[in-house]
Amino acid sequence: MNAFAPVPRKPDPIEEGIAAHIEDFIALRRDLHQYPELAFQERRTSKLVASRLSSWGYEVATDIAGTGIVATLARGNGRKALAIRADMDALPIEEATGLAYASSNPGVMHACGHDGHTTILLAAARYLAERGNFDGTLRLIFQPAEEIGAGARKMLSEGLFERFPVDAVFGLHNWPAVPAGHFGFVADAAMASVDQAAIRIVGKGGHGAEPHRGVDPVLASASFITALQSIVSRNVDPQDMAVVTVGSIHGGSASNVIPESIELKLTMRAFSQAVRDQLQQRVPALARAQAESFGAIAEVDYRLGFPALINHRKETAFARKVALSSFEPDRIVPDFRPRTASEDFAFLLQKKPGSYLFVGNGESAPLHSARYDFNDAIIAPAARYWVRLTETFLMDDNG
Ligand code: ZN
Repeated sequence: MNAFAPVPRKPDPIEEGIAAHIEDFIALRRDLHQYPELAFQERRTSKLVASRLSSWGYEVATDIAGTGIVATLARGNGRKALAIRADMDALPIEEATGLAYASSNPGVMHACGHDGHTTILLAAARYLAERGNFDGTLRLIFQPAEEIGAGARKMLSEGLFERFPVDAVFGLHNWPAVPAGHFGFVADAAMASVDQAAIRIVGKGGHGAEPHRGVDPVLASASFITALQSIVSRNVDPQDMAVVTVGSIHGGSASNVIPESIELKLTMRAFSQAVRDQLQQRVPALARAQAESFGAIAEVDYRLGFPALINHRKETAFARKVALSSFEPDRIVPDFRPRTASEDFAFLLQKKPGSYLFVGNGESAPLHSARYDFNDAIIAPAARYWVRLTETFLMDDNG
């Protein structure tokens, strides 16, 4: 026997079971991609998801937070219950991929791969219904409106976990520029909080040639923007993360007129509530003090978005262990870097223990780009992962 011959891998029934229908699921993913729907308008998507789940034997509850779905499959008499969540909504972006199945809805695009997340969970759902080996209750959550940070909150306010109790909740996001089908795990803070501020710096308009007769809000704004940089560099603990970005500034219309006011729009991100609170205190304080030092006034509208996504340690260790037992070790990124993007799965993790993980999408345009392209090659491994996670979490001897 040739000692160098490759060792044949044992056939994996889950891998084979998912592979048997993978062409259907790729077609489904492309269909969802072609008909993207914005937050809370996912009616076609929701109908399609519900009808598939019912046909496989799930008990399907619809119309939660409008278009949201919870599908339940109970088996045996195990008392444990597991939830897995996928998001369904698209973004207000005009698609520029040129794909054959590019969006047919003008100005709307699945540019974050939620079509892929939905399909991955459906592919796992079918396998689990037909051949899943578990004892307990599986609940699949198909959530609307992730992109506007409202879907998870609305499902919770409509009694998500009271109506459908679970012991833990898991979710995933595809991630460009990470090798396709590699899995990333982060204990503790995995994604940042997101808050916004709209700031109006009001001066006194006048002739550009006579600045001494007015109060220049342009100069006050410039000073404020420069001073803002001191929050991250001088106020926040250097070992903590914070982002303060001025993404929009508008004011004035002519070169020789001092405008009455300037409008700025900011986004703030943090990984901890303490830093988040600090930003909420420092940004308005600086705006007011800087404006006042020029004789101007700052009107600040600070809007809290959603909190940092904090993964629970025990569940993250469990999720990582499931990946290590299912895939080659080089496909596991054990300490994936936390991301400064945000995700409303954070609200679910405030109510239930769980973990949010990342699956490499390979080399593609970034999320939220008009050229972003979800990689269909990751549907099968990610679906296999959900099956393994379910079967391990809801094992006979686990109850
Ligand atoms: Zn997303």
